[in-house]
Amino acid sequence: MKYRDILIFGEPVLKEKSKEVQNIDSNIRKTLKNMYEIMKRADGVGLAAPQIGIPLRLVVIDVGEGPIFMVNPEITWYSKEEVDFEEGCLSFPGVAINITRPEKVKVAFLDEKGRKNFLEADGLLARAIQHEVDHLDGVLIIDRATKTQRMEAIQKLQENIQQIEETKTLTKE
Ligand SMILES: [Zn+2]
Repeated sequence: MKYRDILIFGEPVLKEKSKEVQNIDSNIRKTLKNMYEIMKRADGVGLAAPQIGIPLRLVVIDVGEGPIFMVNPEITWYSKEEVDFEEGCLSFPGVAINITRPEKVKVAFLDEKGRKNFLEADGLLARAIQHEVDHLDGVLIIDRATKTQRMEAIQKLQENIQQIEETKTLTKE
């Protein structure tokens, strides 16, 4: 089975606002399943469809308690309490940025069978939900960062990408 690669920062689709899913059919379920497998292979806890080049409002999250598939997720409530967390992103390999976000959220979404779901989350799950829903609106971790953090992150990312490219070249030879 062939997988699409996870897109890295710089790809225009990552800055787009993704479209709502109108019909949860077998194609959507297949996409969600692929997203989950791609995320697992990359050791991630969350993945949004635009990260594999599909501008649809689809999210997969697994913080160690099994997969949660979200179609058209909408955060309906944010706690007033905020927390700091070193946040990574599969589209920014090797980069982590300390970002302040609400500690808890409530999210409404459809599951892979089209059933309405509500979830109240805290900890890593609340963090992952906010991060992935951001992706659906074209918002990335550097958009949540300070100017200094952003410059450091982009520099680090460029170094990491260069390393990845060099490893690829070596493997080819
Ligand atoms: Zn991300």
